[in-house]
Amino acid sequence: MVFRWTGRKPARHYVRVSFILSLLALWFGGAPAWAGTIQRVEVKSDSVVVTFDRRVADASSFLLTAPQRVAVDVTGASPGGSVETGGLVNAVREGEHDGGARIVFDLARPAVIASGRFGDGGRVLTLQLKTVDDSDFARAAAEGRMRILPPFNMPDTGTAARYQVALPVPASSKALVLPRVEGDPDRPLVVIDAGHGGFDPGAISPTSGLKEKDVTLKIAKAIRDELLKSGRVRVALTRDDDRFLVLQERYGIARKLHADLFISIHCDSVGSGDASGASVYTLSEVASDKEAAKLAARENKADIIAGVDLGSENADVSSILIDLTQRETMNASAAFARLLGREAAPLVPLKSNFHRMASLMVLKAPDMPSILFETGYISNPNDAAFLDSAEGRQRIAESIERAVEINFAKRFAAN
Ligand code: ZN
Repeated sequence: MVFRWTGRKPARHYVRVSFILSLLALWFGGAPAWAGTIQRVEVKSDSVVVTFDRRVADASSFLLTAPQRVAVDVTGASPGGSVETGGLVNAVREGEHDGGARIVFDLARPAVIASGRFGDGGRVLTLQLKTVDDSDFARAAAEGRMRILPPFNMPDTGTAARYQVALPVPASSKALVLPRVEGDPDRPLVVIDAGHGGFDPGAISPTSGLKEKDVTLKIAKAIRDELLKSGRVRVALTRDDDRFLVLQERYGIARKLHADLFISIHCDSVGSGDASGASVYTLSEVASDKEAAKLAARENKADIIAGVDLGSENADVSSILIDLTQRETMNASAAFARLLGREAAPLVPLKSNFHRMASLMVLKAPDMPSILFETGYISNPNDAAFLDSAEGRQRIAESIERAVEINFAKRFAAN
């Protein structure tokens, strides 16, 4: 079947933050071979229930404009079964698409997917529709795909999914400009985020005037080059020039690219004293120590600089942190942090308590392992010289490359 695709509408105005509802299940590490045939598609007023004869791997949904439609792609599934329309849906079409099934709902009125979840051990997909106005529909259409995952490693017992959660994920409604992804398409994707940029210089060396934003960009590029040289992963940079991105755009870009690992590069600084050495941070609502809490306050400030107050959204994202979904991601992040500590030790000066935790906004993607690497102190002349040297960058890049390689080797071995 042929679908007509319409171009994304660029946002004309910068609207601070909008919400997309997204369903996030346990972090998804591979592509399982589950596949089922559609048995029934049922529309009841504002909800859609798709039943499969077997568990399916995952689904993603997106919106199409002119005419307004909701499309759902189910990985590995085959079209078939009976269809019952009604409510907000005028017609339902099924077809094969990219080795799976695509279901398209022709809408009677503009509506978006408010939530999506799998039940019955991954055999039933329920989508909740919500009517919106035309401009909200267009905005939601520009957000791209929403991924819906059944619970990972859930035995096919027919029991309802316990580990699922539907939560709002704040996303900038300013259409994200996705960066170029380099490397072999079959490889996992690592997104490297050079901290700060544009009118946010980050920390500045009191002696040399060296800016964190410049140091992080050079390090990010060195890491990209090293990872690409290994040929084992794909790589994208959130920025490859001197531009400003709000923190949520940074992980938003990585999520939109379905990154398997997110690494944000920073340099630390202290007003006084001679602190030195690198440390790695993973997400926790409770900072591991006072210094970690201070660092989080400094690094989270980037958005305040931009005049974006994300206070209310933070509360929503924070509330799900206790969920197992998030915990799984946090465990994967911590495992990578430990690996990095081991691999970096012979190459890069490290702090004695290398792995620490803090509530860092840039690490808040609930479904993507993420770390923030404080590569050293820009306020310390020795560290600054190391960080701003070709050899220093090379050593940091090598540490990351080794850790990344082991990380994915382990992950794939476990699947
Ligand atoms: Zn920073």
